[in-house]
Amino acid sequence: MSAPYTSGAMAGPDVDVVVVGAGFAGLYMLYRLRAFGFSAIAIEAAEDVGGTWYWNRYPGARCDVPSVDYSYSFDPELDEEWGWTEKFATQPEILAYINHVAEKHDLRRDIRFSTRVEAATWDEGANLWRVRTDSGDEIVCRYYVMATGCLSVPKAPEVEGTAEFRGDVYFTSSWPREGVDFAGKRVGVIGTGSSGIQAIPLIAREAEALVVFQRTPNFSVPARNGAVPDYLRLQLETRRDEYREEARWSRNGSPRPLPTLRVFDVDEGERFRRFEAGWHGGELSSITASFTDLMVDPDANDAVSEFLRDKIRSIVDDPEIAEALCPTDYPFGTKRPCLDTDYYATYNRPNVRLVDLRKTPIDRISERGIETQDESIDLDVIVFATGFDAMTGALLSIDLAGRGGVRLADKWAAGPVTYLGLATAGFPNLFMITGPGSPSVLSNMLVSIEHHVEWIVDCLDHLRSNGFDVVEATPTAEESWGQHVNDCADLTLFPRAASWYMGANVPGKPRVILPYVGGVGPYRKACVEVVDRGYLGFVLSGGGRVHHNDGIVRRLQPDVAALLEAREALNLPDVAGAPVEVVRAHTAALAAGRPPGPEVGELVDGTLPGPAGDLVYRLFRPESDGPHGVVVYFHGGGWVVGSHDSDDPFCRDLCARSDALVVSVGYRLAPEAPFPAAVEDGLAAVDWIADHARELGGIPGALAVCGWSAGGNIAAVVCRLARDAGRPAISGQVLLNPVTDADMTRVGYVENGTGFILTADLMRSFWDHYAPVEDRADPRASPLRATDLGGLPPALVVTCEFDPLRDEGAAYARALSAAGVAARHVDCRGQIHTSVIAVDVIRSAAAVRAEVASELRGFLSGVPTAGLLTSG
Ligand SMILES: Cc1cc2nc3c(=O)[nH]c(=O)nc-3n(C[C@H](O)[C@H](O)[C@H](O)COP(=O)(O)OP(=O)(O)OC[C@H]3O[C@@H](n4cnc5c(N)ncnc54)[C@H](O)[C@@H]3O)c2cc1C
Repeated sequence: MSAPYTSGAMAGPDVDVVVVGAGFAGLYMLYRLRAFGFSAIAIEAAEDVGGTWYWNRYPGARCDVPSVDYSYSFDPELDEEWGWTEKFATQPEILAYINHVAEKHDLRRDIRFSTRVEAATWDEGANLWRVRTDSGDEIVCRYYVMATGCLSVPKAPEVEGTAEFRGDVYFTSSWPREGVDFAGKRVGVIGTGSSGIQAIPLIAREAEALVVFQRTPNFSVPARNGAVPDYLRLQLETRRDEYREEARWSRNGSPRPLPTLRVFDVDEGERFRRFEAGWHGGELSSITASFTDLMVDPDANDAVSEFLRDKIRSIVDDPEIAEALCPTDYPFGTKRPCLDTDYYATYNRPNVRLVDLRKTPIDRISERGIETQDESIDLDVIVFATGFDAMTGALLSIDLAGRGGVRLADKWAAGPVTYLGLATAGFPNLFMITGPGSPSVLSNMLVSIEHHVEWIVDCLDHLRSNGFDVVEATPTAEESWGQHVNDCADLTLFPRAASWYMGANVPGKPRVILPYVGGVGPYRKACVEVVDRGYLGFVLSGGGRVHHNDGIVRRLQPDVAALLEAREALNLPDVAGAPVEVVRAHTAALAAGRPPGPEVGELVDGTLPGPAGDLVYRLFRPESDGPHGVVVYFHGGGWVVGSHDSDDPFCRDLCARSDALVVSVGYRLAPEAPFPAAVEDGLAAVDWIADHARELGGIPGALAVCGWSAGGNIAAVVCRLARDAGRPAISGQVLLNPVTDADMTRVGYVENGTGFILTADLMRSFWDHYAPVEDRADPRASPLRATDLGGLPPALVVTCEFDPLRDEGAAYARALSAAGVAARHVDCRGQIHTSVIAVDVIRSAAAVRAEVASELRGFLSGVPTAGLLTSG
């Protein structure tokens, strides 16, 4: 495409779409746009196609996702006509493949090479993008696609003096086409990320001397490269289409069996065997997929990190060098791990030296070489392998102005904000491929690139067929997507590393998680859902019509969504209305499979006298020396199901976190013992425990109550009964998702009555078992109906966004406050009725569990944090 574009100000677009970049993404975008009848040009700064694989020609450059996976899937013929020579192809082979695709589909004719896009401005009057290049041209287009790459802007060296150096300087990210001859040279390599780890062994073989300057050691596992192994080759030969489809829905874009066990589910021997198998597996995922919890549980991660450090120690002869090469200050996998060939063994060569920059930082580069704080090292060549301004670098290096002239750089000053990593509000008709907020660099990029290209072109096609020509993400949609991206990351160990995933490698860059860690399949599902729900979260306009479809595609916490999905897959029976024995058996069966909760100092089962016979209790004693404050706990189960041990994991968690003695009481159940048996038992239990605090190991007078669901109802009612009886003294109440009113018409019931474990039908059947309709307005059944809430102990009321009981809990917190009780309300975003007690299942509720425990500590020490009515 050589003709210059000089469109008039009022003319229509020169082309439908401008695509920036001609790497894997830009090329497929061009192909797909053409296939759908859109006119398009691509603009590429390089002289030819290839993107990453055009620029990164350093020795050892190769992919680290197997080439069978790291290749286009859109053209089945390609899989037949192109045979990869190795499991992980080299850069020349990948570039040859890209060239082959460009030629096969005649893509070069629509690409302007050696041209850089400098700016793009949304013309609000014309609804067009004006794209300016470094050759001074302006190209006017309807849609503007940034296929600019996530790792295409090298990070500037942080060392001074490069210009003074008299030898040669190279950057792995823009390696000379003719290659570099290291023979007889003294070479310094700065950086030990993926590129450094690939290049170092090969440079070491050629150079007279190699000095590696390392700031942060990296985890690397052997690539075990060679011919394409059968397990991959046969997939394409025998079940290509299924395999490619599985990749699209997989965790990271390469379909592999998923683990089912957690690290500490198995003994040490089995753990070691699995890690060892991962080490020998020859893929990055071989290690990460050895257990389910490596990226979420710090202890599990410590186990694999130590295994990998031992591997380094076993390979590297010099123990001091080995230790310097061992990563210790971030969890394995939270910085991009590498695949290597002979990386660690390279440090056993006599011509290789490691300089640990954490001990002796570089002062400057001089004309002779590199000066550290300790010495001057003379060099002939310096190689920078210092990485990229990842994910946002290329997007922000173009001066982008959207609606109202707002600059993308200003909008993203505190970190990128996108909807699905595809679009950003205020920048209509602009799309990013593998942008921040999508799986992107955490996935096999080819799968993610193809997904985005297809989604975008489908969207343009949808606009065209429906008479629209402008599409824009809504602020609500992108804000909530950002929240979801963070929620996913917060469930993992990723935020614990100062990694480029977190923007931490570039000075001054905001520290936020850049890629979506929720997985390729779940991400694709969200994108499909957005479309199926009429482009949810987008405003589509054109032809005088506006389709404003504001909304949120992911509102549940990610682990809650996963739990609900897993339950759905199990096709569990609906027990609402079933005979009580069936409901109880069903609940017990589900409880049997749950994680046990943390260790506590001691468990004691005992009995205490109730109004109609003995009640069983379980006491959870903390590990610390007593005496402790006492929390009387009432389990959930709709007054119908459960016992003193049914919320066992939660009681352990509460005990461990609050350092209080927790006594879980087995009150009588309905329908055998209907209303008001449960609350009478509750009061009797609290009374007896208060009287026997000392012999139980508690501090007399330091007593709080806590209950979940129907247990929250009992705890609330007991506080009133105790106040009226003048005993026992209760210093605080924690009501978790409490039942406070028999009125089932509140919005929470309407919105959340189905699909979130506790259904409206189930709750109705619980009420039917517990209390006849005429008794339900009694404040001992519906404490919200009480007209005299004054003088009750301070309260923490926890509700969950997707709980049918949400609004009655909130109403109770408000009523307590109105009555002058120090009551605090916490509403848990994205959580369901069972979240708070689902210890080690719903990890996203760990923060509220901590908050509950801290509130209880306050109650028991007489310093409640309660006061204002808040929600969080
Ligand atoms: C050494 C290395 C190894 C990698 N290995 C793997 C791997 O094994 N598996 C994997 O999934 N991913 C890997 N990646 C990530 C890799 O970047 C992607 O897989 C993929 O190649 C990205 O393709 P792309 O087209 O999106 O971007 P790129 O290939 O980066 O192409 C973007 C293009 O846009 C051009 N461009 C940018 N801004 C402008 C502008 N303003 N004007 C004009 N042109 C512009 C650039 O010149 C570049 O050519 C690797 C990356 C590197 C650096």
